[in-house]
Amino acid sequence: MLKQFCEHCGEETEHKEVIKQKPSKYGKSKKEQFKAFLSGFFGGVASQVGASLDLIDRYVVCKKCGRKKLENLGDEFQ
Ligand SMILES: [Zn+2]
Repeated sequence: MLKQFCEHCGEETEHKEVIKQKPSKYGKSKKEQFKAFLSGFFGGVASQVGASLDLIDRYVVCKKCGRKKLENLGDEFQ
């Protein structure tokens, strides 16, 4: 379990990780989404270590209050 400091609770609480794909260069049609899915799928392993990080938003959600915090890894790991 992920322990993080929650500003809202003012203490360390358990957080769960949520990963969302950003609305991206891919269009909104089913076909485009499927392409996005495939590219995400094949890039999946690499994305774990950063190759596709620009396509996802990583959040941590406080299990206590439900506060969502954006926590993209950003450039520091690249
Ligand atoms: Zn909280």
